[in-house]
Amino acid sequence: MQPLIDYARSFRQQTAARPEEFARLAEGQAPQALFITCSDSRVIPSLITGARPGELFELRTAGNIVPPYDPEQPTGEAATIEYAVEILGVTDVVVCGHSHCGAVGALVRGDDLTAVPAVRDWLTHAAPRADGTTADGDPAIAEAVQSHVLAQILRLRSYPYLARRLDAGQVRLHAWFYEIHTGTVLAHRPPADTFVAL
Ligand code: ZN
Repeated sequence: MQPLIDYARSFRQQTAARPEEFARLAEGQAPQALFITCSDSRVIPSLITGARPGELFELRTAGNIVPPYDPEQPTGEAATIEYAVEILGVTDVVVCGHSHCGAVGALVRGDDLTAVPAVRDWLTHAAPRADGTTADGDPAIAEAVQSHVLAQILRLRSYPYLARRLDAGQVRLHAWFYEIHTGTVLAHRPPADTFVAL
């Protein structure tokens, strides 16, 4: 932890080198996109996209899960999505899964999650079938993550305010898959229904 503290302590010196850029941030934010991805420490949205401060609104959850729309059950995830779309007016929403995902891997393997009940219950929102027949190999998990990402995209379409904007062509959805071992970003291409490198 100490290296992180040391860096944070000296970060102010970096802002001093770019005073106008940082001062502008105090005036408000107009991010280009809402970027929904896993909490995994190896996935860094600003690193992948080159986003500067103020350009990317992020939602990070275990397994990049979008919970089902339920106005009776407010969640932090729903609040983040609503704010990004209704208040900030983002025009693009990315759901980015990743290789070697522990959350989706646990589902694919059918891991015993009784020691982490919050994780177990959260993952019931995910899509992959935990039939226990899939091998541990990453290709299998990659395939599961990709279908899982598409399921979250479908779920986003069920959020009424997003559905309205999608119908009006005001918002676009992007399904991405990030390979943490190669740095390759793949995107889902509907015509072929497959993920290909961006
Ligand atoms: Zn993950």
